[in-house]
Amino acid sequence: MGKKILVWFRNDLRLHDNEMLVEAVSKADEILPVYVFDPRHFKKTNYHSFKTGVTRTKFLIESVISLRQSLQEMGGDLLLLQGYPEEILPELVVKHDISEVYHHREVASEETAVSIKVEDALWKQKINLKHFIGHTLYNKEDLPFPIKDIPDVFTQFKKKTERDALVKPCFTMPATISFASVEDWGAVPEIGTLLQDATAAMLKVNTEFRGGEKEALAHLHDYLHAGEDMALEKISLKKHEIVSKLSAWLALGCLSPREVYWKMKDAEASYGIRPYFHQIVLGLLWRDYYRFMFKKYGNIFFKPQGFNKVGLPLRLENTSALQNWKDGQTGQPLVDACMQELNTTGYISQIARQLVATYLVKELSVNWVLGAAYFEEQLLDYCPASNWGNWAAVAGVGNDQKLSNSFDFEKILKFIDPKGVFAQVVRA
Ligand SMILES: Cc1cc2nc3c(=O)[nH]c(=O)nc-3n(C[C@H](O)[C@H](O)[C@H](O)COP(=O)(O)OP(=O)(O)OC[C@H]3O[C@@H](n4cnc5c(N)ncnc54)[C@H](O)[C@@H]3O)c2cc1C
Repeated sequence: MGKKILVWFRNDLRLHDNEMLVEAVSKADEILPVYVFDPRHFKKTNYHSFKTGVTRTKFLIESVISLRQSLQEMGGDLLLLQGYPEEILPELVVKHDISEVYHHREVASEETAVSIKVEDALWKQKINLKHFIGHTLYNKEDLPFPIKDIPDVFTQFKKKTERDALVKPCFTMPATISFASVEDWGAVPEIGTLLQDATAAMLKVNTEFRGGEKEALAHLHDYLHAGEDMALEKISLKKHEIVSKLSAWLALGCLSPREVYWKMKDAEASYGIRPYFHQIVLGLLWRDYYRFMFKKYGNIFFKPQGFNKVGLPLRLENTSALQNWKDGQTGQPLVDACMQELNTTGYISQIARQLVATYLVKELSVNWVLGAAYFEEQLLDYCPASNWGNWAAVAGVGNDQKLSNSFDFEKILKFIDPKGVFAQVVRA
């Protein structure tokens, strides 16, 4: 009997630049690719929102389908199951005579807790759970400092990392894969089956984004190789208006940050340096920074008092101020427009996120964790480190005190709409 490795896909829904897959294919005679829809990801939270809303659920399903289709094109498939990985994976190990299980390591506590439960269950079967790191632009072992010494000030992290660390090349996608034989590869779940507690009204989706690796690579290509007119248009935009909209694919791992980086370098070689290419790299560095901060500090980012010594008032009830903010009905025209955009599409830009978050915390005096939890439900690109890290900073309880003290609603409003044109148009 040949060696079989179970490849457990999570937020790494791609074939390109996937070390876990490359190693599994090289070490095993056959691989069994698996994705588990975990019911815990679709539950209501204690903060009056869902862990995953309908827009991201749809995007996730599309991403899983896309991965399944790519594996089918290689003569195999993706086994789809619903339940707890710590129960399902040990059963699969027995059923398919698996020798080892591979997966990508996450940084936030709930995701890590699931890995530990799986690891414990497999350990009882004398099966190893091998961890891979594939979510960041820079691997932690390539950084010029150990995790505990990573500077809390982003600019210092950026300066030293760019000076002393290298971005690794991408892993080449396997040309062929031998798959384990499986009788029933499982059906793709309906959105409504996953989101059982959602109302019919909540199940309406209206977003331009489509999940999946192929969509992600096509979007990246179009963005980097925009025709000269579009490129000039981007260059004439203000810095905060240049957005790649790559975040949702990056969050689910349909796109690897290294792939973005190296494709950007190729484009740079063809067209020369364009300022908006550097905006992407800056964003990817912020993304890495929050992930490493989560590794350094763990759960502090989820606590209402964050890094502050003195706790903030812990009012966590569902007030009308919170509900109006969620619904985009506060009466502040730009905040309302941004929230309605978020509710419809699952995406708003960085500056729009800062605007609505600052408004909730500083103008409406609502506890920031309720806002962060609502973003967790609504954002297509939700990932724990980026969301809770940015929210803690906006709320003034982050690890970088200077950054944390820099958010002011009126200043952000003036920055986006210096002449108050938006409010006049809305009121006209
Ligand atoms: C309150 C708040 C909550 C946020 N929640 C999330 C979240 O859950 N998931 C998420 O990916 N981003 C989050 N961000 C960061 C940022 O707003 C988005 O990553 C960005 O707007 C995505 O748009 P883009 O792809 O066009 O970004 P670009 O500007 O084109 O940047 C390229 C990539 O870099 C990353 N990135 C850029 N800025 C940041 C940042 N400040 N922090 C972390 N990563 C960054 C993203 O992956 C992005 O796709 C949040 C920001 C705020 C203020």
